[in-house]
Amino acid sequence: MTTDYYALLGVARDAAPDEIKRAYRKLARELHPDVNQDPGSQERFKEVTAAYEVLSDPEKRQMYDLGGDPFHAGGGFGAAFDFGDLMDAFFGGGGRRRGPRPRMSRGQDALIRMDVDLAEAMFGTSRDIQVDTAVLCQACSGAGTAPGTQPATCAMCKGRGEIQSVQRSFLGQVMTARACPQCRGFGSTIPHPCVECSGEGRVRTRTALSVAIPAGVDTGTRIQLSGQGEVGPGGGPPGDLYVEIVQEPHPVFERRGDDLHCSVQVPMTAAALGSSVTLETLDGEESLEIKRGTQPGSVLTLRARGVPHLRGTGRGDLYVHLDLVTPTRLDDEQEEILRRLAQLRGEEGVTLVVAEQEASASGGLFSRLRDAFSGRTTG
Ligand SMILES: [Zn+2]
Ligand SMILES: [Zn+2]
Repeated sequence: MTTDYYALLGVARDAAPDEIKRAYRKLARELHPDVNQDPGSQERFKEVTAAYEVLSDPEKRQMYDLGGDPFHAGGGFGAAFDFGDLMDAFFGGGGRRRGPRPRMSRGQDALIRMDVDLAEAMFGTSRDIQVDTAVLCQACSGAGTAPGTQPATCAMCKGRGEIQSVQRSFLGQVMTARACPQCRGFGSTIPHPCVECSGEGRVRTRTALSVAIPAGVDTGTRIQLSGQGEVGPGGGPPGDLYVEIVQEPHPVFERRGDDLHCSVQVPMTAAALGSSVTLETLDGEESLEIKRGTQPGSVLTLRARGVPHLRGTGRGDLYVHLDLVTPTRLDDEQEEILRRLAQLRGEEGVTLVVAEQEASASGGLFSRLRDAFSGRTTG
């Protein structure tokens, strides 16, 4: 946001010093607060004066011509104009903070992964874990200095934290600034570092934590433990610890979102005659009624027997897929009974007759036809 000082004074960019002075005097006579009481004019008077202060000083004018704005550069007007900002503006490094950087800064966030089984994910649990982290150095309370000693102003940068150098470039002579190698930009050094932390203000250690895992977590869920991350350099405030959940697959129940699915094998006879089975769910035993005449592909739904919703209330459902099992080995007596049954039902030969209503009602015409065809070709 560089103000166009030439436009403010109404002079060309190559105006001679005399022209600039004349233009300023003329404007100042019009706009001076003693003469003109209009608040807008007073504001303009300040701007025009600022423009004159820059353009009447050959050094500042040159800086300004290179694209810098002495009023908005670090240090303000009157301080040494810093070309680091100008270079940043040209080369996209903008926004870099000037001056020494603080020794104390916030610690990093940490991420750990935690395996939980389905029951833990469903009902929540609490886990005691050990984490490698950094904690405040008790010996120096984060200062990094040995007892009774103080940091010293860096001799190389005189406490500025940066080293400036003049370089020639296509822009002319420019000044660049880089972090002081002696103090790494802190502006001070620690001549007598704390022996416990070597001047870092924090020490690495292993700490024990108890993590509460809420009901409903899933793979990818992150639990944020505020302030349980590493203590920052110089004893700075700690970051956060994130625990990322990895839910192990369950041998029986497959999780899809908050719903659970499982399969139960139902013998052909039980499907035909009806039966009940006991299913061991994560909530305990559930009695399932297999209705008389249960068809292949049937699914029983147990409402709210799935995973609790992590956000909000309620639970997903448990879907029990019924796999009808046809016997593969029949002893003589069983075979005889089945043959007799087939005879009684008139099912000795596979027929292609499909009842029109039945087919359209169940929508299974093609699957029935396919079964009939395969039955004919293989049987
Ligand atoms: Zn220490
Ligand atoms: Zn230094």
